[in-house]
Amino acid sequence: MIREVLDDFRRTADRTGIREPTDVVVEALRRVPRDWFVVPEDGENAWRNEPRRIACGQTVSQPFIVALMTELLGVLPGDRVLEIGTGSGYQTAVLLAMGCEVFSVEWHAELLAAARPRLAALADPSRFHLRRGDGRLGWPERAPFTHIVATAAPVEPPPELVGQLSVGGVLVIPCGDPAGSQELVTIRATCAGASRRRSVLPVRFVPMLGDGEE
Ligand code: SAH
Repeated sequence: MIREVLDDFRRTADRTGIREPTDVVVEALRRVPRDWFVVPEDGENAWRNEPRRIACGQTVSQPFIVALMTELLGVLPGDRVLEIGTGSGYQTAVLLAMGCEVFSVEWHAELLAAARPRLAALADPSRFHLRRGDGRLGWPERAPFTHIVATAAPVEPPPELVGQLSVGGVLVIPCGDPAGSQELVTIRATCAGASRRRSVLPVRFVPMLGDGEE
């Protein structure tokens, strides 16, 4: 799996600007037992560099994409990270392995209930905070965050998430048409109220639930 992830970084380097992931990200991918995060009957496919189906019609992202999003976040040990879309908890576990404190919001209670014991077996429970809710609203009581990552795609980045970035903070989010083309973008809060957006790579994510229903 790691070799394929490294190949994907080289193949996409012209667009992402990242020729290879840092050692700490590779080490986190090695350490997090990906087979815990897929459905039991899918165990033998867990270590493929592929997205896999989980419960509630959702997917755990491809390891290359998890590594790329983690690189784009540029986290350091001790950073407070807001994640939208806990899902299986795999991306959460990678961030915990990087030494972050993670605040993660998930729409489906069933997924959250399955993710909690996996994460508790890997990290001190004081380092992660899970909440059922609509992640488009972020986690205002715990804002601002230096790093925010979303693993489901709205058409456009929710303004609440951009608003919960601290100055200099970064949001990594897939966005675009749920049925058509999506792109992974980074949004950096430059100074009060302003931000800079960069498009990184075409991607395909599950849609952000609730988006476009108002
Ligand atoms: N990071 C996850 C990826 C799961 S797929 C992993 O590593 O497994 C995206 C997740 O986002 C799904 O679990 C889905 O239920 C969740 N999601 C979609 N829309 C959401 C919303 N509005 N608020 C919170 N979570 C949402």
